[in-house]
Amino acid sequence: MNEQPQLNEHNKQEFPPAHTAEHILNQTMVRMFGCERSRHTHIERKKSKLDYPLPTCPTAEQVAEIERRVNDVIAQHLPVTMEYMPQEEAARRYDLGKLPEDASPTLRIVRVGDYDACPCIGTHVTNTAEIGRFRISSTRYADGMFRIVFRLDLPEQGEA
Ligand SMILES: [Zn+2]
Repeated sequence: MNEQPQLNEHNKQEFPPAHTAEHILNQTMVRMFGCERSRHTHIERKKSKLDYPLPTCPTAEQVAEIERRVNDVIAQHLPVTMEYMPQEEAARRYDLGKLPEDASPTLRIVRVGDYDACPCIGTHVTNTAEIGRFRISSTRYADGMFRIVFRLDLPEQGEA
């Protein structure tokens, strides 16, 4: 089991809207299925993949519901904020199961409105309005692992 993400070695190429959508999707999966946040992620501008350990394959209706809930959160135009707190305090309030053993004593907690909060050093948008529309392009279930592939229809941006 050496696939644990290292909080101190974040992929700098990660695309902020897709990475922020990952936070929302993780929370949605935790709420709907009681599963863990994804430990296997591959986030890119065009296409992102996340794997969730689940005992059974979600139905098509559940997949549609995941997409609907994520878009509901995005559409609320929630602020994405950051807060630093001691690891001890964070451990009381959040699931820190993924932290590497050498994580710093002070953690950065990233919140998406009051929908999600988790320790992360990645790069995020400042408001979910910047994410656009979340679309699940495909899913796969094999060996107890449910994979979601998603892409974003980004909002129209006025070029500066
Ligand atoms: Zn993050």
